[in-house]
Amino acid sequence: MAHTVPDISLNDGNTIPQLGFGVYQIEPKDTAEAVRRALEIGYRHIDTAQMYGNEAEVGEAVRASGLDRGEVFVTSKLNNGFHRPEDARRAFESTLSALKMDYVDLFLIHWPLPTRYDGDFVSTWKTLEEFQRDGRARSIGVSNFQVPHLERLAAEADVVPAVNQIEVHPYLTNEQVRAYGSEHNILTEAWSPIAQGRVLDDPAIVDVAEQVGRTPAQVVLRWHVQRGDIVFPKSTTPKRIEENFRIFDFTLDDTAMERLSGLDRGESGRTGPNPDEFDYIPA
Ligand code: NAD
Repeated sequence: MAHTVPDISLNDGNTIPQLGFGVYQIEPKDTAEAVRRALEIGYRHIDTAQMYGNEAEVGEAVRASGLDRGEVFVTSKLNNGFHRPEDARRAFESTLSALKMDYVDLFLIHWPLPTRYDGDFVSTWKTLEEFQRDGRARSIGVSNFQVPHLERLAAEADVVPAVNQIEVHPYLTNEQVRAYGSEHNILTEAWSPIAQGRVLDDPAIVDVAEQVGRTPAQVVLRWHVQRGDIVFPKSTTPKRIEENFRIFDFTLDDTAMERLSGLDRGESGRTGPNPDEFDYIPA
């Protein structure tokens, strides 16, 4: 079986590699080296954000890799303080200049912030539509949007988000939001896919890993890709960056898939904030 990462079609006709590399909480000084390593191993999709403070180092590593710009899928996200259209336009320009790129493959609203900006994330979304129209964002999407937030975009905006990037792992399977996505042609991207490591010593996951002769992280990442979601695990350890990439040469059977899905703890399984309440704006 091949090691190749599948490309998945987005609702706008573009494609995205199903496995990428996430750089949340990687210090700027360590980012270029981690991304360099990931690209060397074969990752062709990098997930960053304005909030992570390491867009410049991601751009640096992509350029240093010698790969053509078109070979690497780069995502970034609008920071929470910039939801007003004029701020979003300025912030988007700062993303492109930090990356030293003339387009991003995917640009997301990082959080809906329903308790901020008078609850208006629709005008923010319409501003992202501008970036797509002028070609500087090949695809646009959202992150941490709940079903009512997606319904509101469907009612008030023209473009359907290409993706919704949400917290998903075996302790928070997030089925309702995923189901809305699959019914409306919005791909789910699963953030914190291994729950920042918290699921890796779960006895059921350890047991499945022993049965298939893989590591717990590989089993959990494989579970995500068999469910059809996009993942971008984060690590700065070369051995783990490589381990997380080797998930396309084995499969989980239905019993193993159901065992992992059965670990869902609902809301109490969250590792991150609840998007209905989260209102953080960085200083
Ligand atoms: P993750 O689930 O990818 O876990 C990362 C942690 O798990 C690492 O710090 C490391 O300690 C450990 N780890 C990684 N590989 C391992 C392995 N093979 N064996 C053992 N331990 C291992 O968590 P994450 O970084 O929060 O999420 C991944 C990416 O998702 C982020 O880098 C970011 O790109 C994205 N993200 C997005 C949002 C959002 O609001 N949109 C929020 C959080 C994360």
